[in-house]
Amino acid sequence: MPEISQSTKRVRTRFAPSPTGFIHLGNIRSALYPWAFARSTGGDFILRIEDTDLERSTQASVDVILQGMAWLGLKPDEGPYYQMQRMDRYKDVLAQLLAEGKAYRCYMSVDALNALREHQLATKQKPRYDGTWRPEPGKTLPPIPEGVKPVLRFRNPQEGVVAWDDKVKGRVEVSNAELDDLVIARPDGTPTYNFCVVVDDMDMRITHVIRGDDHVNNTPRQINIFHALGHEPPIYAHLPTVLNEQGEKMSKRNGAKAVTQYRDEGFLPDAVINYLARLGWSHGDEEIFSREQFVEWFNLDHLGKSAAQFDEAKLRWVNAQHMKQMDDAALAQLVGEQLARRAITADERLPAICGLFKERSETTVALADSAQAFYVDKKPSAEDLQQYVTDAVRPALSTFAEKLASAEWSKEAIYGAITETLKSHGLKMRPFGTAVRVVVLGTPHTPSLDVVLALQPREKVVAKLRAA
Ligand code: GLU
Repeated sequence: MPEISQSTKRVRTRFAPSPTGFIHLGNIRSALYPWAFARSTGGDFILRIEDTDLERSTQASVDVILQGMAWLGLKPDEGPYYQMQRMDRYKDVLAQLLAEGKAYRCYMSVDALNALREHQLATKQKPRYDGTWRPEPGKTLPPIPEGVKPVLRFRNPQEGVVAWDDKVKGRVEVSNAELDDLVIARPDGTPTYNFCVVVDDMDMRITHVIRGDDHVNNTPRQINIFHALGHEPPIYAHLPTVLNEQGEKMSKRNGAKAVTQYRDEGFLPDAVINYLARLGWSHGDEEIFSREQFVEWFNLDHLGKSAAQFDEAKLRWVNAQHMKQMDDAALAQLVGEQLARRAITADERLPAICGLFKERSETTVALADSAQAFYVDKKPSAEDLQQYVTDAVRPALSTFAEKLASAEWSKEAIYGAITETLKSHGLKMRPFGTAVRVVVLGTPHTPSLDVVLALQPREKVVAKLRAA
């Protein structure tokens, strides 16, 4: 029976990070798109940790991957699978390829390989393995040297081309003559990177590989291994690089932050998803959209072809738009978490406080900074006191204190007390209101005075005004 084509099977995508260094926003975009594609097609999204580089892989890096994905709500349907736990399987497949004559042992020493490479470079040839140990009908192989542990090489086809229809790059064709016989197992028998990826993508029945275009050179080699294993390769989409603000490839080495740092800095998961979604994909002119809309709209036909550039100011703007649209109670939940980190316990006033400040805050951290003034006394600075709490307004502050002492504690009644005080002292709102803000809240800038005061305990407001 012919194999069912990848394009008509149930979609299965994967994110396959190597846990070497902290995953940043550029990396996590390679999780977002396969996740969204699986969600939008009713398929499965698989997480696979490619941890075979024992020297560079760390548990801390795995933790950032898992926490970052959980925070952003990129929940895998399967996994995490760990490549280190699949070694036996890779070794079985290596043995199978060897038995079928699709892989062979190569005893060329490192010195001999280096000499070959130097010679090729000196004679202006592309450095490549010369096939010394590749078995061919009628060819006599060199005698096996003693005490040398062989590597296993994949017997790459020598004729024809490897071609695929990349969802981003279009048709890509690579001549097999360009590809030499790849090492698929090291002398100690451990499998190499490209080989493990193919076995995993095959075993995990991946239909669509959506990954960074730094892997595009591996693809023809991987496709050949797929064919050798008798499997149809997946559909590929190679995403253009994400550049940082300086136009360099985004990387931890040049300042990219770990994904989880955005959580700590007060960004909303849905805003980060929205921002990242637009970094290499578009749906008309839509800039601000929900996670649900993104999943509904996402497909592989509108992926950008050129590199995208990260822009933190735009991310902040997108975050601010999402904060504005968010329900006060839901926002209070997140701001409450930020306050808890500062050992401040919020109360039932927090949703209203969030409602007051959400239009003017870009992050939940900034919102928590404003909310904090309602929970911890902020002492006004000497400069603010001197500038705003002048002899001209001081008598009005004490009138206002007495009015508030007996007023009903509501925004409307406080508003009434403000207008009466202004009238009896012949004052304008601005100097009076600023002085009250400085005295009560320790800052000259707050939203509407009546609303802000109503959210403070009466005793505190009155006592502070009396003492001014
Ligand atoms: N582990 C690879 C990386 O982190 C990704 C491999 C793949 O997606 O095929 O770059």
